[in-house]
Amino acid sequence: MENVYIAPVVGPEIASGYIRIEGDLIAEIGSGVPESRDPDRIDGRGCLATPGLINTHHHLYQWASQGLAQDATLFEWLVALYRVWGAMDAEVVQGAATAGLGYLALSGCTTSSDHHYVFPSGRGDLFAAEIEAARELGIRFHPARGSMDRGQSQGGLPPDAVVEDLDTILAATAEVVDRYHDPSFSSMLRVAVAPCSPFSVSAELMTEAAALARAKNVRLHTHLCETLDEEEHCLEQLGMRPVDYMEKLGWLGPDVWFAHTVHLSDADIDRFAQTGTGSAHCPSSNGRLGAGIARVSEMLRRGANVGLGVDGNASSELTTLSGEMRQALLFQRAAHGPTALTARQALEMATMGGARNLGRSGELGSLEAGKLADIALWRTDSFAAAVDDPVCALVFATRQPPLARLLVGGRTVVEEDELKTVSQDAAGRAGAEAHRRLMRLAEQQGFAAAKEVHT
Ligand SMILES: [Zn+2]
Repeated sequence: MENVYIAPVVGPEIASGYIRIEGDLIAEIGSGVPESRDPDRIDGRGCLATPGLINTHHHLYQWASQGLAQDATLFEWLVALYRVWGAMDAEVVQGAATAGLGYLALSGCTTSSDHHYVFPSGRGDLFAAEIEAARELGIRFHPARGSMDRGQSQGGLPPDAVVEDLDTILAATAEVVDRYHDPSFSSMLRVAVAPCSPFSVSAELMTEAAALARAKNVRLHTHLCETLDEEEHCLEQLGMRPVDYMEKLGWLGPDVWFAHTVHLSDADIDRFAQTGTGSAHCPSSNGRLGAGIARVSEMLRRGANVGLGVDGNASSELTTLSGEMRQALLFQRAAHGPTALTARQALEMATMGGARNLGRSGELGSLEAGKLADIALWRTDSFAAAVDDPVCALVFATRQPPLARLLVGGRTVVEEDELKTVSQDAAGRAGAEAHRRLMRLAEQQGFAAAKEVHT
């Protein structure tokens, strides 16, 4: 890759340089042109190269339940949708994941996590379905085996029909870690352990899940401090605030990253920084549900790690990961003034911040020799050419610059805004069909969700 503006995130930017790739690794980065010229070289003239973006919070199955409960709070939205999700099967998940991951790749994402926590019995292998979709697309994938065991009869929010029991959850989680988790340097697939949230999971499951993850040396993920309703629930039912509860359960540490963390005190942020606990900031979802604005600039200032996430499409709708850089920047500036977050800080959250959340800062998140060749090449030679700073053109734009190339381990997944590993038309259709199938299944189960939850 030659003649390209390089924003490596770690180290100085290069106005016109090259990136030499060997196998799935970055072999060399420099200014000017390389001494030995690769016959397969990509001419990056007029383009910006950044590390591939890393998505650290998602629920891919929610592609099939977009546009519902549009004006609800988080708890209202969850109560409306739990029963719809309880009707999903492996076919719904595969179609939704194909569309959702394809959409992410088109917005510069080379690595995505997913948090799947609804496992209705007898509906096929949902976890395998999303893994298959990621394999076909060729994106690095970190699926988290989620779970809920605290239904309404136990004081939780979800109906009892969509939760599982503790033993089933722990056995199923251990099984998918053993079957799929690849800890190698260039791994395309790593599994995390991810009970859903303090209001849908028992303390025992949280503790046992942490023990299981640490025994198997995989990471821990859950939702935390998303809304003030959650804080009230924790104070009422557990007698403490969410971060205190996590600390009591052994859930703060360098192997843990939380989704959202909107409502943190100064002391909470300091505990995150001291323990190396990470956060996935999902500004569009937080805005859509009226949850609030996470204190991202303060978290970065105090040394807590923050990555970005699009969150499930049912609460973020058709949100791109590149767009979350802009949304994060605008939220911080609207709340705290124009110096609260820079374009380069937003890019760093979307790349190195994400790599740290997933425990892969040695392999991903920056363009450096020896790291994996996961690279987004943005075309900044058309409308964006009126902006001299290409990082500004990327982060401030509502409409992302064209994606000239997306490489995952040196392999082309996107070229000129078109998916190359799967049919883009088929991926879009698969998502729409997954939606229609889920609505049909929900109605067959006696839940007229499709109509009822539009309001
Ligand atoms: Zn979520």
